[in-house]
Amino acid sequence: MIKLSKVGKKYIEGGEERWVLRNLDLLLPTKGLISIKGESGSGKSTLLNLISMMEKCDEGDVYINGRNASKLIEKEREDFRLFDCGFIFQHFNLFEHLNVIDNIAFPLLMSGVNRRIAEEKASELLKKYKLEYLKEQKTSLLSGGEKQRVAILRAIINEPKIILADEPTGALDNKNEKLVMEHLNEYSKEHLVIMVSHNDRIVKKYSDRIIKLKDGGISDDSSLLKKEETTKVVNRVRNNNWGWIANVTKGYFKKDLKRNILSFAGSLISFFGILIAVGFYSSSQITIEKEKKKSLLYTSASVSLIKEEEIEGSPLTLNRTSRPNYSELEDLLQGVATIECDYSYFIPSYSAYSINGELRDPVAFAPIEDITLKSRSENMVIDGAAPETDSLDRVLVNKEFASLIGESPIKHKIKITNSLKIIDGNIEDSLDFSFSFYIAAVVEEFSFLNSPRIYYSLNSIKAHLANLYLEKISIAKGKNYSVLDYIESCPSDSVYGSYAYNIFFSEDNAKRVFDIRDRLKREGSDLAITSEALDTMQTFSSLVDAFTASLAPFLILALISSFAINCFTSYSSYLSKRKDFAIMHALGARGEDVSNINLFENTIVSISSMIASLVLGYPLSRLFSFLLSRSVQIKGLVDLHLNAFGIPLFPILLILVFALVFPIIGSVIPQYLMRKQSLVKELSDE
Ligand code: ADP
Ligand code: MG
Repeated sequence: MIKLSKVGKKYIEGGEERWVLRNLDLLLPTKGLISIKGESGSGKSTLLNLISMMEKCDEGDVYINGRNASKLIEKEREDFRLFDCGFIFQHFNLFEHLNVIDNIAFPLLMSGVNRRIAEEKASELLKKYKLEYLKEQKTSLLSGGEKQRVAILRAIINEPKIILADEPTGALDNKNEKLVMEHLNEYSKEHLVIMVSHNDRIVKKYSDRIIKLKDGGISDDSSLLKKEETTKVVNRVRNNNWGWIANVTKGYFKKDLKRNILSFAGSLISFFGILIAVGFYSSSQITIEKEKKKSLLYTSASVSLIKEEEIEGSPLTLNRTSRPNYSELEDLLQGVATIECDYSYFIPSYSAYSINGELRDPVAFAPIEDITLKSRSENMVIDGAAPETDSLDRVLVNKEFASLIGESPIKHKIKITNSLKIIDGNIEDSLDFSFSFYIAAVVEEFSFLNSPRIYYSLNSIKAHLANLYLEKISIAKGKNYSVLDYIESCPSDSVYGSYAYNIFFSEDNAKRVFDIRDRLKREGSDLAITSEALDTMQTFSSLVDAFTASLAPFLILALISSFAINCFTSYSSYLSKRKDFAIMHALGARGEDVSNINLFENTIVSISSMIASLVLGYPLSRLFSFLLSRSVQIKGLVDLHLNAFGIPLFPILLILVFALVFPIIGSVIPQYLMRKQSLVKELSDE
């Protein structure tokens, strides 16, 4: 049944070739107990490895039941070991993390037999060999003799035609030696048992034939076989069965619990990092865009003409600001903004005021086109109510201004006084420009923009100025002449026109106005649109951009370190299982199944940290948002949305990719690194 013809096997040791077996011819029968003797290093284990197809010979051919081993593909070799060849080792090589039944049933489970049937069969064997009492025992608690007898049951459960036993009694006492030999002896009545042994006593007592190896060949053979024998081959097929892989993985999972917890924590931290970053990247821009609009200044700007003038006899230049040409502005802003005169000569944009009669330091005053806030979609009012109609005696103040007052400022009275002179030619009119406002409402604005500010109605000032007549100038002109008439007709470089126009636009038009502003800047135009809101917001946006960019290296670092942890733990896990993997290999496991066990374990860890990170990630991002909002007054900076960047389930998908990719790479790398080192060596090291 086994025929070796001119077989040679060499190893490279220290760069030198050494033939362990050479020119070896051997014919073995279909049944009987054949002992192989020889000094240590004479190639006994190597011979068994050639027969089990764990290794290939370098010369000659090995025929098993008429089939040339070197012509078989890897899957056929694996099937051969699973169904036709059983291994028994000196040091038992049971799977310590599996119980007795699972160890015995292992080859059956690998071949795809239903778990219940496999366990039944394992129990029957235990009963037959009077080992029933071991059924519930933990493998690690068995005595050496018990372990070896369990190993024998594992080797024979698939009823292989050949049993290969490498010094099976080497680690046993006399009593157990006898039990083991009796089991083997019995099995050899119908099957072939090839046993390597140094023990002359048992070799003599049990062997049907004794072969001695020396100098790479056979030095002695007690009974040569004349003719090759073959047995009838029952073709058995392996069914794909994930059950045993799951079961084995489960066992390792418990065994490697500490390592897995470490790996879990490592992945969890990096997944948190990813989620927080996604939350920040995806929501900060949206939030800031929203926040930007939360300012009453957002839809107003001022436009002026700035001309550089050389100063004669000096290298310096002078910037002369004047009011632009109205019709030129109309062309520029057609349809996107309304153009209004600037009355800041009358109500200065930074002015002292008194509140309830008490004089206060200057504060910012800003005209607003719509003091009723009707055109605002957002509800910015946090105290009081915006006036129903345009009104000159009602103003809005922001939160920062309100905090200057310290209590609810609603209904408080703000007063400003301004005594002005208006000169037309040589006629001078004096004007007492005093106003009292009641605070109608407090608004909450984009926090970065805000200094204390009072918003008054531009339209009401305009109407007021239209009804305010300049007495002396009117008499001189011979007609009613209002302040408004005067402002509208004053020359572009007159202080009364404040050298500028106000422009007002809607939220929808804001982007177009800002584009025009950028274009003017780019083209180096004399016209300049200035917007305090926009300037502050651009500064803020740049800050956020810088922050976002500086987040990236940290994120990459987190990913790399988590990946490294994953690879390292996976590598160490692979190393710790290599012996077991070698045993599985000898028992006929498929190469990919063995790889999958490591992958499975790592994937389970990874997926569970993924789930944990998603479950905890949402509250965590909320917490971050909350903490950030306390320091920068902007809510929702790190909000994790399920459709971040407009992609449904984006955070989940992203984490899933990492959760799958990390363990795959983490499992592949160690196996790639170890691919050159034969698993067989793990078994022969004893
Ligand atoms: P035995 O089982 O008779 O003690 P082995 O068959 O295990 O001997 O080994 C025979 C010789 O081959 C030994 O010298 C051993 O060091 C060498 N050898 C076995 N396996 C390998 C291997 N994978 N790589 C290099 N040398 C090996
Ligand atoms: Mg050996």
